[in-house]
Amino acid sequence: QSKSFGNRKALTIENFIMIKPDGVQRGLCGVIIKRFERKGYKLIGLKMLNPTEEILKEHYKDLADKPFFKKLVNYISQGPVIAMVWEGVDIVKQGRRIIGETNPLDSAVGTIRGDFGLEVGRNIIHGSDSVASANREINLWFKADELIQWKNHSTEWIYE
Ligand code: GDP
Ligand code: MG
Repeated sequence: QSKSFGNRKALTIENFIMIKPDGVQRGLCGVIIKRFERKGYKLIGLKMLNPTEEILKEHYKDLADKPFFKKLVNYISQGPVIAMVWEGVDIVKQGRRIIGETNPLDSAVGTIRGDFGLEVGRNIIHGSDSVASANREINLWFKADELIQWKNHSTEWIYE
């Protein structure tokens, strides 16, 4: 979708990012949030919760046939997680770059999974894989009134 910044229109997109229970337990919430902030992205929704199996099965429904599906739901349902919505230009694709590959061992140093993880079953963070997934996941995890529209004073120094 497109949004206005001052008198300009810029293409911005929203992304669903979730710090998984291992990221929370290992005290990585601050550094993870900082990596999105320092890039120039804007946080417009954040909450801590213990996700139900129901929401996780819906969230990961495309993986329901995978042999690791049960382990995956079990891992994330241990909670708590930090669910977030981030906004900014190209946030879905750039979010994947900030996060790294699915397997931390394939992830470049400098990415979240590349810097902090060792195993695919403990890969610290979720980020949507497409704009369509992001919209679906934001609607699944957040109510409309939990998303905060605010003007970041840095906007004019992040966007030309
Ligand atoms: P992502 O988009 O990079 O998170 O990867 P996928 O959408 O393919 O998989 C979703 C999540 O399932 C991953 O982030 C992992 O937590 C988990 N997962 C994927 N593949 C495996 C696997 O081979 N084994 C285990 N244990 N978990 C996996
Ligand atoms: Mg995925």
